[in-house]
Parts: sequence; C-alpha cells; structure tokens
Amino acid sequence: MNKYQKAAELIKNSKHTTVFTGAGVSVESGVPPFRGEKGLWNEYDPIILELKNFYKNPEKSWVTIKEIFYDYFGKAEPNEAHRVIARLEEDGYVKAVITQNIDNLHQKAGSQNVFEFHGNSRDLVCTECGTKYPVTDELLAELPPKCKKCGEVLKPDFVFFGEAIPEQEEKLSFEEAEKADLFIVIGTTGEVQPASLIPVVAKSKGAKILEINIKKSNFTDDITDLFIEEKAAQAMKKIEAELY
Ligand code: ZN
Repeated sequence: MNKYQKAAELIKNSKHTTVFTGAGVSVESGVPPFRGEKGLWNEYDPIILELKNFYKNPEKSWVTIKEIFYDYFGKAEPNEAHRVIARLEEDGYVKAVITQNIDNLHQKAGSQNVFEFHGNSRDLVCTECGTKYPVTDELLAELPPKCKKCGEVLKPDFVFFGEAIPEQEEKLSFEEAEKADLFIVIGTTGEVQPASLIPVVAKSKGAKILEINIKKSNFTDDITDLFIEEKAAQAMKKIEAELY
C-alpha cells in the first residue's frame, strides 16, 4: 500500500475524522502565510496586528489591514484541498474542520462544520459595544470603519497579537479534538500556541494523526502516525482518488 492508500484506509476505518488546517492549505489559493520566506511579515510590519498598536493608531493600522485582508485576500478562491475537504464532509467522511485561517475559504468551498480558532475576516466587531457587522465596501469606504450604534472603531473579528482566542471557539475546538479518532493535520507547522496543542490533545485522546505538510513540522516526529510530505491540494486529490 502506498501512503495515499494508507491515508484512505485510515479515513474509511475512522468513525470521527476531524481536519485541522493552517496557512499551508491556503497558499495555493494565493493567500501567503504570515511566517517564512515568502510570508507577509517580510513585506509588512506585524505591529499592525498588535492590539495595543491598533487601539493607538486605528486609522493607520486599518489602511494596511484593508490592503492585506480585504483588497488582496478577499479575492482568494478555494483550491482543490479546500474542495476535497468539503466533499469528504458532504460524503460523511469528515465530521468537522478546525482552522487557524481567517480567510473563509473552507466555507467558500462548502464546508459546513467549521471552527475558526483565530476568528474570521468576514465580520467586523465594535471595540466598544461588541456589535458585529458583515464586512461591506460601504463599511470600509472610510477608515477606520465605525460602529453605526455607538460610533466607536470597528476591528476585524479575528485574533490580533496580544488578544485572547475567542472562548467558545477554543472550547469547541478542543472538544472536537477529543472526539476524533482520526485527526488530519494539513498545512500547519505547529509554531503558534495554543492552536498547536489541538493535535496533541487529539493524539492523547487516542486519535491517529495523519499529517500533510510540505516539510517536517513540530508534529511529525512527536505525534504523527502517517506523514505525507507534499502540497495540500495534490495530496488531498490523491487521497480522495483512493477513497472511491
Ligand atoms: Zn459599537
């Protein structure tokens, strides 16, 4: 059996498969990762996503935030990795997706049960009263965008540096990891805490770990049962081909 056949066997034999994704799953959609050689932080200063700085300079932060997350990321479309994951959910092979990404591409591909560990870029949230607004061109026409109820600054509803993980998403993600008997790690190297603990929890509760990454990660030697060293879309297509 080759690795793809083995992966397909794991999926077929599992009762509760959960997928856990990071930046690597979206790279082929043209969404650059934050870290690494071609990462965003080579071009932009990460200070724009620091909570304290955002509160101090909301207008300046927002100019760059809009450029990266709305003008640029907003145009990204799901790739074959997102689509295969969505099809596997539709066919009952996958129960849930936990993603560290904020790009909405799993939902765009059709995934239903998605936990967004770091929030999302779809909504803006008022820094004063907490009202949420789906992002629109109108809201972003003047920066920083302001709350229609209280007039305070709106912030993207994703997790900034120095900001806590949304409580509910954190709880549900870890619960989901505990339920899994197969946990598929895709495109994430395990450098960002506490997200990197989710696969570790899954493993400790008895899940097998299938890992798809372009190179070895923090997980590979520690918890991974089957490692496929490849780009997400290629690997997922080959695994899918073995499933049917
Ligand atoms: Zn408000």
